[in-house]
Amino acid sequence: MGSRMRLTHQQTAERRLHHALKEPRLSQCQDCDAKHRRHTMCEECGRYKGRLVVDVAAQAQKKAERLARKARSYGEEVPTEGHTTTVEETTPEKKEVTPKTKKASPQEKGANVETKKEDK
Ligand SMILES: [Zn+2]
Repeated sequence: MGSRMRLTHQQTAERRLHHALKEPRLSQCQDCDAKHRRHTMCEECGRYKGRLVVDVAAQAQKKAERLARKARSYGEEVPTEGHTTTVEETTPEKKEVTPKTKKASPQEKGANVETKKEDK
């Protein structure tokens, strides 16, 4: 490499001046007003120029079903179903507790409390 081919730091810096990435040019979706990449389907509604390319809602549903099946195969509780079951589990307990306390006489309550205290 001869001395003439050598670039100064300034020349290197000037060349690299144009290497920075530019912000992506975004367009607004005709249907849902979300921003999407140009000449590309809107990822919010799955449409391009008003034409339905991908049924996003159906895909999301399929994905949820797939995840649920996978979770069941591993013997885990499905997030949505698990949430409902926990709610169902908690509500009957409360229902059971409230009538017992209402039905239970004050003498029984006192006896229970005393036994608990004695145990401790
Ligand atoms: Zn859209």
